[in-house]
Amino acid sequence: MDAFTYNAHPARVVFGSGTLSRIPEEIERLGLTRVLVLATPQQEGEAKTLAHRIGARAAGHFAGAAMHTPVAVTEQAMRVVADLGADGVVAVGGGSTTGLAKAIALRTDLPQIVAPTTYAGSEMTPILGETKDGAKVTQSSPKILPEVVIYDVDLTLTLPVGMSGSSGMNAIAHAIEALYARDRNPIISMMAVEGIRAMARALPKIAEKPDDREARSDALYAAWLCGTCLGAVGMALHHKLCHTLGGAFDLPHAETHTAVLPHAFGYNALAAPDAVRLAGEALGSADPVTELYALAKRIGAKLALRDLGMPEDGIGKAVDAALANPYWNPRPLERAAIGDLLARAYAGEPPVASGSFPR
Ligand code: NAD
Repeated sequence: MDAFTYNAHPARVVFGSGTLSRIPEEIERLGLTRVLVLATPQQEGEAKTLAHRIGARAAGHFAGAAMHTPVAVTEQAMRVVADLGADGVVAVGGGSTTGLAKAIALRTDLPQIVAPTTYAGSEMTPILGETKDGAKVTQSSPKILPEVVIYDVDLTLTLPVGMSGSSGMNAIAHAIEALYARDRNPIISMMAVEGIRAMARALPKIAEKPDDREARSDALYAAWLCGTCLGAVGMALHHKLCHTLGGAFDLPHAETHTAVLPHAFGYNALAAPDAVRLAGEALGSADPVTELYALAKRIGAKLALRDLGMPEDGIGKAVDAALANPYWNPRPLERAAIGDLLARAYAGEPPVASGSFPR
């Protein structure tokens, strides 16, 4: 076995069904007395219910969280934190709400309790991407990592089928890139394989029966594992492309990951044979690149970036941006080949894997 370094992130995880009821005791355990409950406008109802359930230890709620963590929203929330004298934050929602909790914690070091309702995995990472004046800046700090994560399967039952599929594919993307990360290690690879396996098993069942608790439970468990992968090792071309596309064309986050993933994995396949073998084991296919595309198709996900609102003349711009400030990648970045992969993702065509697969 090659030598490796493994950094574990200290977070407490409570997993199960009905676990949201444990929030008051987790708040007490952290010694908090005035928490601010965060949500998006769409999930304000959940925030209000949760604040009510927390009772005297809830200072109030703020339901303004938005995609890509705009700094203007964080500044608004910071004023509420100050006005209410909040001593902690509780986020109930997807990556956008978690992002707001992290942005507040970065500025104040207030403890965070996060109850995720999607499979984005942000709750397991010390990473925050914030947007200001159309540009997204990502940073990492121990202050950003939530102290407690409450995974409650019940919260995910309302996640619409389309969003469930793309959010699950978003999680798989973290695990795929972890398998070929420069700083990969056997512990994280083990989590990645298990995360991909559990998510790929769950998503078709959720697409068929959105209230399938067993499948929802598998998917949330997988999201945790995949989020841990994202937080532990470096991401590569796929995440760079999705960041670039999201920032430049305001494309929806999880759906963009879904459309790009098979193509970005295909681009790297020949340069990452171990990752292909492990992903193949997890997906039960000798050709995991094509299998990811087939999975996305099977669950009814949008496969074409053009259907997500990307303009055709954006391909060149995206290639320039991906090459301008590149992430490390197992295969060198080749302008023409990246243009080709984006053109296929734009049109929703099947991915082309570079090279053959080890069997
Ligand atoms: P989201 O949080 O924006 O949620 C999308 C919509 O679905 C919102 O309107 C939300 O209120 C609603 N929703 C969420 N859960 C629901 C549920 N169970 N039932 C009904 N509606 C629900 O989407 P997301 O994909 O989870 O998060 C995307 C954001 O997270 C992006 O800004 C992305 O950059 C960020 N992110 C960050 C990291 C990180 O490590 N920093 C990791 C992954 C994603």
